[in-house]
Amino acid sequence: MAKSAKATNTKSSASKGSNTKSSTSKTASSKSGSSKRSQGNSGGKSDATMLKELFLDELKDIYWAEKHLTKALPKMAKAATSEELSNAFTQHLKITQGQVERLEQVFEALDMTARAKKCEAMEGLVEEAQNLLEELPKGSAVRDAGLIIAGQKVEHYEIAAYGSLVQLAKTMGENEVANLLQQTLNEEKQADQLLTELAVSGINIGAENEPESAGRK
Ligand code: FE
Ligand code: ZN
Ligand code: FE
Ligand code: FE
Repeated sequence: MAKSAKATNTKSSASKGSNTKSSTSKTASSKSGSSKRSQGNSGGKSDATMLKELFLDELKDIYWAEKHLTKALPKMAKAATSEELSNAFTQHLKITQGQVERLEQVFEALDMTARAKKCEAMEGLVEEAQNLLEELPKGSAVRDAGLIIAGQKVEHYEIAAYGSLVQLAKTMGENEVANLLQQTLNEEKQADQLLTELAVSGINIGAENEPESAGRK
């Protein structure tokens, strides 16, 4: 209770500070303008423009995420015990490289230069995968089970991102863009399904039969 009261005090004094700044600094005043705009319609920008800005921000986010995955997937392939799972990651690496190029086509179709903006979520998901690998013994089936979980979390994030982007593109009447993003969405769904099949087809059973001594630190 006392702690939260303290936090509130800190927050209100911090926001006082930023209010003071905003009357003197150009950057801060333009920032406060944009937050006003998102609350009401007083900023002068149309909803259509704001939607496009949101769309572009999300596009830059997933562009960063896909590029990040082109570095993570080879490590996941190398870490896998089962050859099938390793191949699945390698295959998805190639698909992911194609998805990076497809996103560049999307930027081009919108007359934009492709730009990446750090995706905190994908950075975190990849970090979690790395942590799992540190905990699970090399050459074990349980390591593969962990890799499948990590891989599916990644695919589900991508499915959510592309699903939303496809809908936004359709709303904006950007049909070419919607088609491109839909192709990637389909690939992500396939990748997710393949991982489910690999889990069901034996990796999880293998992990369950593994003795405890092969197990975790
Ligand atoms: Fe992808
Ligand atoms: Zn993100
Ligand atoms: Fe998330
Ligand atoms: Fe993917």
